[in-house]
Amino acid sequence: MSLKYHKSSFINGCFVEINEQTFSVINPATMETLAKVSNDGVKGINLAIKAADKALNIWKKKTSSQRSEYLKKWYNLILSHQESIAQIMTLESGKPIKESLGEVSYGASFIEWFAEEGKRVNGDIISPHNSESRIHVIKQPIGVIGAITPWNFPLAMITRKIAPALAVGCTVIVRPSEETPLTALYLADLAKQAGFPPGVINIVVGLDASAMGKELCNSPIVKKISFTGSTKVGQILMRQSSNTLKKLSLELGGNAPFIVFNSANIDDAVNGAITSKYRNSGQTCVCTNRFYIQDDVFEEFIKKFLESVKKLKIGPGIESQNDIGPLINKRAIQKVQDFIKDAESKGAHVLLGNDQPAQFFFSPTILTGCNENMLISKEEVFGPVSAFFKFSAEDEVIEKANNTKYGLASYFYTQDLNQSIRVSENLEYGMVGVNTGLISTAVAPFGGIKFSGQGREGSKYGVDDYLEIKYICTGSVK
Ligand code: ADP
Repeated sequence: MSLKYHKSSFINGCFVEINEQTFSVINPATMETLAKVSNDGVKGINLAIKAADKALNIWKKKTSSQRSEYLKKWYNLILSHQESIAQIMTLESGKPIKESLGEVSYGASFIEWFAEEGKRVNGDIISPHNSESRIHVIKQPIGVIGAITPWNFPLAMITRKIAPALAVGCTVIVRPSEETPLTALYLADLAKQAGFPPGVINIVVGLDASAMGKELCNSPIVKKISFTGSTKVGQILMRQSSNTLKKLSLELGGNAPFIVFNSANIDDAVNGAITSKYRNSGQTCVCTNRFYIQDDVFEEFIKKFLESVKKLKIGPGIESQNDIGPLINKRAIQKVQDFIKDAESKGAHVLLGNDQPAQFFFSPTILTGCNENMLISKEEVFGPVSAFFKFSAEDEVIEKANNTKYGLASYFYTQDLNQSIRVSENLEYGMVGVNTGLISTAVAPFGGIKFSGQGREGSKYGVDDYLEIKYICTGSVK
C-alpha cells in the first residue's frame, strides 16, 4: 500500500507551509528517511495560538451534543483508516504493527468516550447561606490548550489529551514529537474531513521542542499545558508556566514495580509480566522497570519467564510476526547499554540478551541478582530489559517498591484476598494492576503521583482537567 504523508503543520483548518526548512523523519527499523517535514517552529505556534483563540468563541458556544457529533465523525474516520494509520505509526516509531493497530483503537476510544462524557458536564445548585441568596455552580472550558506529546504513542497521547478538551469546548494546539509527526498530521487530515471549524484543532510540527514549548508557556492566550514525557521536561514546563500561572497536566516518567507473591498464579503472572514489560519494546511509561519475586516462587517464575521471553520475535515492526521492534534512536540504545553495564558492575547477572542484532535493535534482556544501588532500580530503563529482585516478606517489598521518587503504575500478583487489599492500599502509585499487566483504558483515570506528575486522563475524571468551576451568587432575592 502506498502511504500519503502530510508534511506541514495543520493550522486554522489547512495544511500550511510556513518554513522552507525541513527536518527528516526516520524509520528506526531501516534508517530510511520516510519524509521531510516542514520545520514550522515558533512561527507555526504563534499562528496556531491566533487561530485557536479566534475559534474558541465559536466552539465553546456550541452545545455539547453538537461538539459530540464532530468527535464521533472523527472517531469513525479514524477507525475506517486504521490500517494506514497503523502502518505510518509503525514506520516512524518502530512499534510492532499489531501494537500499532491496537493503539489506533485505543487512541480512538478516547474520542468516543469523551464525545459522550462531554454531555455529562453538569453544574450544581447549592443550598444558600441566607434566604435572599441563590448559589449556582457552573463549569466552563478553560480555553486554549497547548498539548505537547511524545513519540511512543504517536496517536493515543494526542487523543487522550485533546478529546476531553474539545468535548468540553476548549480549542487546542498540539506539538507532536519531532520523531513521529506523520501520524499526528494524518490525524489532522481526518479532523479536517470530520469538518471541525477552522482553528479548533491545530497541529504544529517542528524540530525545536524547547523554543516551541517556551512559546506555548509564555503565551497569555494559552491557558493550560498538557504534557506527556520525561520528568525533566515536565519540570521545565512547570517553571516556564509560572509567569502566566498556567494550569498543567503532567504525565511524566515511571519506575513500575511488578511484585509476584508466593500465592500468585505463576502462569498468569508470567503472561502479565511479558505484556507489561515488552510492550513497545519496553518503551512506555507504565512498562515494568523492577520485578520483585517472592523467594518460594522465584525459580519457577524465572524459568517460565525465560521460556516466554525466548519466544519473542525481534525484527522490523512492519512484519506482522515480530513482537520486538527497534528502539526509537541511538540515545535509547545507549541508555539501555549503560544501565546493563552499571548493573553488571554492581553484581547483576545477564541471564539472556544484552546484544544489539542491528543498528537500533536490542534483544530482550534478563538481569538477575539486582539490588537498590543499581541505576535500573532508580530510573526508567525505557527498553527491553527485565531486572529481577528477590524478596521474603510483604512489608519488605512494599518498602522497596515505594522507595522511588516516581509513582505512576505498579503491578502485583496474589491469590490472597486480604493481601490484595492491603498491598493495593499501601502502594504509593496513581495506578495499581492486581493480577493484570495491562491497565490502560479510556474508561479509567490514568495518571501518577510524586515525580510522575499530576492530573488524570481518561474516564469521567478526564474532563475535569479542562474545566473551570464558576460560582454565581444571586442576592437580594425577594
Ligand atoms: P522522551 O525521552 O520520551 O522523548 P521528552 O520529555 O524528552 O521525553 O520528550 C517528550 C516530548 O517533549 C517530545 O515531543 C519532545 O520533543 C518534547 N520536548 C523535549 N524538550 C522540550 C522542552 N524543553 N519544551 C517542550 N517540549 C519539549
